[in-house]
Amino acid sequence: MVHLNLGGEPLRAWHAGPEPAAAGSGPATLVASGAEPAGVAPAEIKAVLFDKDGTMSHSEPMLEALATARVFRCLEALDPQGQQQRREALEDLLRRAYGLTPAGIHPASITAVASRGHNLIATATSFAMVGLGWPEALAISEDVFARTDALHGQGSQHRPQATDGLADLLERFSAAGLRCAVISNDHEEGIHDFLAIHGFQRHFQAIWSAEHRPCKPHPDAVHGVCRELGIAAGHCALIGDANSDLRMARTAGVPVVLGYRAGWRQPPPLDPDVPQLQHWSELTVSHSHPDRGVSMGTIGSADDAIGSQPVSDSAKA
Ligand SMILES: [Mg+2]
Repeated sequence: MVHLNLGGEPLRAWHAGPEPAAAGSGPATLVASGAEPAGVAPAEIKAVLFDKDGTMSHSEPMLEALATARVFRCLEALDPQGQQQRREALEDLLRRAYGLTPAGIHPASITAVASRGHNLIATATSFAMVGLGWPEALAISEDVFARTDALHGQGSQHRPQATDGLADLLERFSAAGLRCAVISNDHEEGIHDFLAIHGFQRHFQAIWSAEHRPCKPHPDAVHGVCRELGIAAGHCALIGDANSDLRMARTAGVPVVLGYRAGWRQPPPLDPDVPQLQHWSELTVSHSHPDRGVSMGTIGSADDAIGSQPVSDSAKA
């Protein structure tokens, strides 16, 4: 049986999960830490669901460039001479709506957390708030987004880097037999590109993207990706950098939910009762046999791995 530990402490389920496997090198088990009383049964975990932006990837430089370009294009579209006061009002509204601050992108902002569609509506709403009718506000916003879409994703000048230590973590998870999935509001192409460029595809058996329905943060997004993995939510862990992710996971019945804090210049404000990590090296994997107790650092042999297929273009239903 495989266990996950955070900062050397065994992670215990935040609510009691199913009983662990009876014997031998059974399925992977994450045990969530912290608030729960000792004696809570470890959750038997067979898969880990990862958020992408701000968790797997340092997306902030790319998102900051994207949001800044959208502000520029919006002001350009508003342009009429003698409308300086309205331009200033629109710029202020857009910067606040996007979470563009002197210290970077706010990690809980719509730019950081939400889908392109939600950002589009926020942009059109900003236009409406400076006096445009909704049809015009929406049309201008759609044009601005079409002009700036190329700044998003792996094709941008600010190609997102993987967060530090992620490659090693994924190797350890695969060696432990854990399946992995991405659950993100990025588009499917962007997720595949990120995994491919960093050589991560072989570790992932499913993705859930902006094209899937429902999208995050609906709890059924978790159930959807779990169906693609063939593993129930009650046997999964989820790691994310936004409360919307963490609350979605708990509502969906995910027993082990972890917050990741190192993906942004400003640490994301996460619910304090959720175990949080600053570096992937804080997560360790150990192997136990019910009759012989926990053995740290023994994960990695091919014999431990559960058979699985890497994610591919055909993984999406
Ligand atoms: Mg995120």
